[in-house]
Amino acid sequence: MWGVIILPAQNAVSPAETQKLRTALTLLPERTRQGIANGDTGEFLEDFKAVLAGDRDDLLRLVDKTHALPDGYQPPDTVPLVKNNFYAISRDNLALRKPAEQALRLMGAAAQKDGITLLASSTYRSYDYQVTVYNRNVRLSGKETADRESAQPGKSQHQLGTVVDFGSISDAFADTGAGKWLAAHAGEYGWSLSFPDGYEDVTGYRWECWHYRYIGVTAAAFQKKWFSNIQQFMLEFINAWRAST
Ligand SMILES: [Zn+2]
Repeated sequence: MWGVIILPAQNAVSPAETQKLRTALTLLPERTRQGIANGDTGEFLEDFKAVLAGDRDDLLRLVDKTHALPDGYQPPDTVPLVKNNFYAISRDNLALRKPAEQALRLMGAAAQKDGITLLASSTYRSYDYQVTVYNRNVRLSGKETADRESAQPGKSQHQLGTVVDFGSISDAFADTGAGKWLAAHAGEYGWSLSFPDGYEDVTGYRWECWHYRYIGVTAAAFQKKWFSNIQQFMLEFINAWRAST
């Protein structure tokens, strides 16, 4: 009989990493630290290292009202969305980064098995296009209202090429089959609701039940386990980690 073989932990944590974690935590507001503080530091760091190992380019980059993208930023590997058997598109001229498009296919296929067709309505937006979107929203509803639901150019997650606005892009989407399916299952395919209900003071945006960002399956599970499933908390942590030495 073979005995039990115990392999060394692949993500063993070093004292330097534990120190770096402490430094990163000092850079964060209390709300962001909560989940980590209540858990085991070694386990947290092991999970986190798996997340970093799966990161590619800017999948986990913090982009919000106070963290703009560099001037002229363009995602590295966008592909056009074309008619396919996995999800629907609202119009031509939609695009996503390749890893996000592939993940959308997987998620769309899973939704179809449950009788749901996901409709991609808005995806990658260039800086210039965001200028148009933002200015139109300001014109239609005033700056204060526009700032609650549309980003200023350079500060939009859509410019990353890893975001999809689904369906009607309205509150009514939450009560549709697709809206409910995404709320329940998106994380299993690496997609994360960026602006959840009740967190406007954290994210800077009102609830957007239609706006999902692809962050990868490992990061989505990490976010759920350690950050109350709040994407902003996790991205703030990763930002602080990368800023600390
Ligand atoms: Zn959006």
